[in-house]
Amino acid sequence: MVEYSPADELLIEEKWRELEEACRKAKVCRREDDWQFIKRAFFLAKEAHKGVRRRSGEPYIIHPIEVALIAVREIGLGKKSIVAALLHDVVEDTEYTLEDISRIFTPKIASMVDGLTKMSGVFNADSSEQAEYFRKVLLTLSDDVRVIIIKIADRLHNMRTLGAMPPNKQIKITSETIYLFVPLAHRLGLHAIKSELEDLCMRYRFPEEYEEIKRKIDETEIERQAYIEKFMTPIREVLDRNKFQYEMTARVKSVYSIWNKMRRKQIPFEEVYDLFAIRIVFKTLPFPSEKTQCWQIYSCVTDIYKPHPDRLRDWISMPKSNGYEALHSTVMGPDGIWVEVQVRTERMDDIAERGFAAHWKYKHQSIAQEEDGLDKWLRKVRDALNSPTESAQEFLDNFKLSLYKSDIVVFTPKGEAHSMPYGATVLDFAYEIHTNIGNRAIGAKVNHRIQPITARLNSGDQVEIITAESARPKAEWLDIVVTSKARQTIQDYLKRERYDNIEYGMSHLEESLAEHNVTLNGRVLRKLMAAYECRNKDELYSKIGAGIISLDNLGQLLKENSSRKVLKFWKLLIPGSAAQESVDIDRDDEATTLDDTIGEESSADEPTFVMATCCEPIPGDRVVGYRDPQSGHIVVHKSTCDMLTKLAAQHSENIIKEEDIKWSQQKSVSYLASVEVFGIDRPSIILDLAKVIAADFSINMRAISIQSHDGIFEGTISLYVQDIDSLNMLLEKIRKIKGIERAKRLVNE
Ligand code: MN
Repeated sequence: MVEYSPADELLIEEKWRELEEACRKAKVCRREDDWQFIKRAFFLAKEAHKGVRRRSGEPYIIHPIEVALIAVREIGLGKKSIVAALLHDVVEDTEYTLEDISRIFTPKIASMVDGLTKMSGVFNADSSEQAEYFRKVLLTLSDDVRVIIIKIADRLHNMRTLGAMPPNKQIKITSETIYLFVPLAHRLGLHAIKSELEDLCMRYRFPEEYEEIKRKIDETEIERQAYIEKFMTPIREVLDRNKFQYEMTARVKSVYSIWNKMRRKQIPFEEVYDLFAIRIVFKTLPFPSEKTQCWQIYSCVTDIYKPHPDRLRDWISMPKSNGYEALHSTVMGPDGIWVEVQVRTERMDDIAERGFAAHWKYKHQSIAQEEDGLDKWLRKVRDALNSPTESAQEFLDNFKLSLYKSDIVVFTPKGEAHSMPYGATVLDFAYEIHTNIGNRAIGAKVNHRIQPITARLNSGDQVEIITAESARPKAEWLDIVVTSKARQTIQDYLKRERYDNIEYGMSHLEESLAEHNVTLNGRVLRKLMAAYECRNKDELYSKIGAGIISLDNLGQLLKENSSRKVLKFWKLLIPGSAAQESVDIDRDDEATTLDDTIGEESSADEPTFVMATCCEPIPGDRVVGYRDPQSGHIVVHKSTCDMLTKLAAQHSENIIKEEDIKWSQQKSVSYLASVEVFGIDRPSIILDLAKVIAADFSINMRAISIQSHDGIFEGTISLYVQDIDSLNMLLEKIRKIKGIERAKRLVNE
């Protein structure tokens, strides 16, 4: 074993002093005993990790000290957590056992270290077990949230030092972080840590984008500071005059949240108008109430600047489910610019920045209601864990969803409050009330105004669902809902209906064929599947059963000899391989699917690339490949795709880097993309749309669906395009059509 050099020893000594100082400042140790307890943990960890170095080259013990530092300084955890943080890698990486820890410290510390050790086991495990294992671990963890918080601190330090890791490890670690740790941090109210994790992930995954936004923030700094000064000065005068003790700062949004907004709204950096927010944090006086004092400050601000009527958020009367409290409003500042102003007390600010841990500190003085959200959530997690009706993977997905849940409160006409996840629609709410109401929903009166089932709900909305006897769930409904309850109910219904349709469709087809004296066999089936563009028998039967395919032209079809060729299937070629022609799906084997079609076309040793249907990448997009373990095909995803993040979090070994993927040079190869249009309805608008698309020879339309209500129309068009440039050119042309307000590429991310 290599001994540390004197320089290493000095570094360790310095870090340890830093932790000492932080503990003293946070008043973690009340008695000398407490202090000895932490010291003992440090010496044991130092001894246990002796001579070991991290990838970055520094002595291993620096890592547990850093994690303990995050726990005490950035989260505000106490003595036991600091000890557990110092020991968190001891059992996993060294000779020491849990029994040792239990003997030297306490059984409680040993159980915390055990939780931390198990959690790292989850991330190293093979993913099929991973989901199941994760459930078990959470079951033990939900008793002590501190273990999850220390694990988040551990992850934060690993992310801060990620530069030392090889690229494929970076993809795995950032994916896990985005998939699990960011939502966990959000749910536990660790706002500062959540933002830092997001920024770090982006820095490693999208370095160019990260640097560009960062550069633009810096470039506009001077201009922004001048504006902020101009905005703050009159507020300062009024607050000083009223003798408030406060601090007013301007907070620039995180790089990640700016990037997110640019992507979501498809706007350039220059059009993100809310780059910064003004925050007023004040010391409360004993009288009047905290809440009243917040409103007094609000009143001072809005005496100077006019508030936006729709952008007032009162999270004091009704705190967010992760415990966040503040008063947010957007006001019209100088030069007609909207500026968000956040008002918080010092207590609220502490909770907002440091989350859950800060709650305990203030528990005695906070209203009972405020603790509700988190306690309820923890109970729900425990319940879900104890009733394993869903598969482990489903559980993980729902669990992840539940991390962001109950962010809005919606009321029934009778005034009953229901908490719903952010983004919930009228249809979600209908299912929340009752399965039968959901299945029959056609719309709602939201705050007494008629809205479609697709309308998104806001906190405080009063919603009365409108039903019709004739209404039935449709497959499109799955795109409307966000709650797992609604999704599950719709899926069950569709599955049942599909099963009925298949039965009915098959017998109907047999009868119709009999009229032409033809019996149902493989050859006839393949012919019909090709003619109706169905991928398999079940799709054909169910479409017949549902009446989507009418069999009126059956006689004529049976007479036709040639089969239809489908030219449109998208594919990628690796460089040097021969150009691929059309794919004839009328072949002799059963059930032709896209996968075997492409698989057979390529030669044995070259991998086959297929495009992910979840995010529909096209040439010009940033992409990452994922080797499907079953087929061996490489599925190409956009690098921003959620599904990819999920896969990479679990099977990083299957990730193929962008450089190894080459788009086809063949002009004849097209890729599927979806476009969303929105505008004012008029009689021939669809015709005009179709004309513009048809006029472009490099673009083929696959499907179009338009919905129109109250003079507004919204639609989705699926197209085959050659690359991102031809798509952008088409979007430009579509935007020029009279009545079209918006046209953009639909991104499923
Ligand atoms: Mn660690």
